[in-house]
Amino acid sequence: MKVHAVQTGAVRIKNAQVEGRGQGLPRRLAIFTDRTWTDWLPTYAWVIDHPEGVIVVDTGQGAHLIESGRSLHPYVRWEVAFRIDREQEIGPQLRAMGIGPRDVKRVVLTHLHMDHDGGLAHFPESKILVAPGELRTASGWLGRVRGYLPNRWPAWFDPVPLDLAAEPFGPFAASRRLTEAGDVVAVATPGHTADHLSVVVQDGDATLFLAGDTSYDERLMLAGKVDGVSADDRTAGATLDAIGRFTQARPTVYLPTHDPQSAARLANRRFVGARGAADSK
Ligand SMILES: [Zn+2]
Repeated sequence: MKVHAVQTGAVRIKNAQVEGRGQGLPRRLAIFTDRTWTDWLPTYAWVIDHPEGVIVVDTGQGAHLIESGRSLHPYVRWEVAFRIDREQEIGPQLRAMGIGPRDVKRVVLTHLHMDHDGGLAHFPESKILVAPGELRTASGWLGRVRGYLPNRWPAWFDPVPLDLAAEPFGPFAASRRLTEAGDVVAVATPGHTADHLSVVVQDGDATLFLAGDTSYDERLMLAGKVDGVSADDRTAGATLDAIGRFTQARPTVYLPTHDPQSAARLANRRFVGARGAADSK
């Protein structure tokens, strides 16, 4: 097995989104009043080159997101900015790695935010796995009100429901094996979205935690700082706490989608708690 980080462009958001300020609704509204932006952050997608077939986790940004500045949605228009061109989308990058659309057996989406489902069009031959609750939240006009872009899904998009059985996996209440070998497992990590999931990969001695947007970087996870968009502070906090305990119980490389350290951390197998591991940001 080999796991690759694929950077699909970059994104800027408000600092109040990265690290929530206050509680509840005021915490979410703070994104709109904050005038300070992050640096450009990477948007990673992950490729698990597995003996049972290639699994892609999240599809990253699409070049269509450049038009987000013209959106009618206030968050999409004012509170986020994207950088990407067509060659940086995941499809062309996979082809450069020798992986064609037919080679990708499955695509797992941690959630359906636009910088995670933006490359879906490159996977017409794959089984797409999405948590059923996430799909409901993101669909239709209500999905658009919530800031999702279901109108950008390919016409053929009809994901397979990824139902996490109520089977605990370490500190996570629900999980589902994604491989026969049991070395790739989806775990429920609710918070950033109510049905957000993460993917745990056992790669030799190292556990890789493909974290999606559970936190924007490792420091915030360790500090238990909930982001600015999570609807439920307690659920999000409990998830960060569970991830923290999980990473203490076994050597784990923590890989959030937008952490500038994620690719280097994967390449160097730098575990949570190792010297220098928490110095991101
Ligand atoms: Zn997100």
